Amino acid sequence: MRAVTVTPGEPGSLRLVEDHPEPSSDEGAILVQALAVGVCGTDHEIIEGQYGEAPPGERDLVLGHESLGRVLEDPTGTLEPGDLVAGIVRHPDPVPCPNCAVGEWDMCRNGQYTEHGIKALPGFARERWRVQPRYAVGLDPALAEVGMLLEPASVVAKAWDHIDRIGTRAEWQPRSVLVTGAGPIGLLAALLASQRGLEVHVLDLATSGPKPALAAALGATYHTESVDELPFEPDVVVECTGAPVVVLDAMCKAAPTGIVCLTGVSTGGRTVDFDAGALNRTLVLENNVVFGSVNANRRHWDLAAEALARADQSWLASLITRRVPLDDYADAYRQGSDEIKAVLDFQ
Ligand SMILES: [Zn+2]
Repeated sequence: MRAVTVTPGEPGSLRLVEDHPEPSSDEGAILVQALAVGVCGTDHEIIEGQYGEAPPGERDLVLGHESLGRVLEDPTGTLEPGDLVAGIVRHPDPVPCPNCAVGEWDMCRNGQYTEHGIKALPGFARERWRVQPRYAVGLDPALAEVGMLLEPASVVAKAWDHIDRIGTRAEWQPRSVLVTGAGPIGLLAALLASQRGLEVHVLDLATSGPKPALAAALGATYHTESVDELPFEPDVVVECTGAPVVVLDAMCKAAPTGIVCLTGVSTGGRTVDFDAGALNRTLVLENNVVFGSVNANRRHWDLAAEALARADQSWLASLITRRVPLDDYADAYRQGSDEIKAVLDFQ
């Protein structure tokens, strides 16, 4: 069968393998026909050789962590043949740490977790893959065109889950949310905010392309000025750019008792001139919380599947700005202009 692979650490090693072995039965009882995989910044970093790890004893890594497939066979009876399914990306570390031991692998404390298509587990960019029932998430049949958005949606569902948990430290009635960055994560964070009935603000540099209309379709206000110029203080900030100045401005801008959730991964190595004492003073005197959030556990994947099923399907479809057939696989990994989400299509 065909599979898209890289040799981790070797830039330019992206290739389409025609005779990749069928998935081994020890990968899981559920056999899945791939429908599509989404492409994100992590894939680009792996292709550039900056990131990624092949399974033990192997040279190459099958790419793809944003999966969507259709069940071919499930002898466990968890899912039915024909069901839509996505595979959970991260698996717990083998020790396991206290968090992985209770299924909170998203909070792994020793870093020995594994991840499909990223770290020591083969990815989903192959024509067939297998998954264990505990890592298989069934999807509403209506999500056949957009279900590969479940992985980024799970990341956002975790962010909101943790915002809620932090909020309950005291009386918590948030009214407004600012989402910085209108890429897939930012727009899905805005979707979940709108489903919660919050007043949603989305901030991004783009003045043209699809982003302003996608935000408006959620009922959100779209901003292109800098965060410190905004005429309001948000109760919640979901930061999705990782851009140092945006991150710092977001931390300063939150309303009293506000919560700032950081989801963007910065490259590091850049310094900015910044008054750290003033930020500390604001955080202390306003009881603000700033926290980081990455990945998702089973509960978040299930919450994300519900959120996507409730969403306007045509809005979700318009997040997918390119669908590239497997024959043209390399095109899927080139960043297009005004791109939100490119998808590699296995059908
Ligand atoms: Zn762990």
